[in-house]
Amino acid sequence: MAARTILKHQQFEDAVEAACAALPGIGYEDMADGVSAALAVVGLLAPPPELDGDTCTALYADPSGQWWQCEDDPGHDGRHDAGEHTWTDADDDAYPAQQ
Ligand SMILES: [Zn+2]
Repeated sequence: MAARTILKHQQFEDAVEAACAALPGIGYEDMADGVSAALAVVGLLAPPPELDGDTCTALYADPSGQWWQCEDDPGHDGRHDAGEHTWTDADDDAYPAQQ
């Protein structure tokens, strides 16, 4: 279930580009990780990544704002599992598999 607000792609890119302009010398990907973590603690999440269609498409955003996609087979029962994290659809920042 939603807890934090997911930014639109353009909003997140604008935030990362502003951070890059303020701190030249840090690469875009590193800055994106830092911006994601900073936003996550104030209730905002970066847009989720492209879904991998070969596994369950349930998503979870961890406390640092990193997204995880379930690695189990599509349509499974029970908890979703991405190795480092397991979750249920009822957890905060969990998004059920898309049909
Ligand atoms: Zn799953």
